[in-house]
Amino acid sequence: MELFKAALPTRDTLPTSFYEVKRYMQDLGFGYTIIDACPNNCVLFKGPLQSEKECPKCQHPRYNPGKRDEVAIKKARYFPIKGRLQRLFMMKSIAKDMRWHNDKCVDDDVLRHSADGVSWKSFDRYHSWFASDPRNV
Ligand SMILES: [Zn+2]
Repeated sequence: MELFKAALPTRDTLPTSFYEVKRYMQDLGFGYTIIDACPNNCVLFKGPLQSEKECPKCQHPRYNPGKRDEVAIKKARYFPIKGRLQRLFMMKSIAKDMRWHNDKCVDDDVLRHSADGVSWKSFDRYHSWFASDPRNV
């Protein structure tokens, strides 16, 4: 961050450390939640499983048995998408780009955008109620 900050003409607006960047992102609503997970990807330890010490499906321990402190062996990071999308639609120019797949996309069998792909088209066909709103991405 210091190198990056030194390379830019305005020095007083950028954060000075990675920690400060993380705090900034958290304050802007771009944070994430860490959730303990089964090392075999069976479950997330949240809700009714929040206090479990081992996976209810494979019985793998949640915490490393050799450590004194309870530190989960595997952690998942959850990035809520709703707030991120809302922020993208707050700026008129970006909102226009967010609707590009509906407003400007040309159906000519050339792959230029994710909306040209088979998966996007297939999803739109099966979920027409979702595809009917151009803000849905
Ligand atoms: Zn498991």
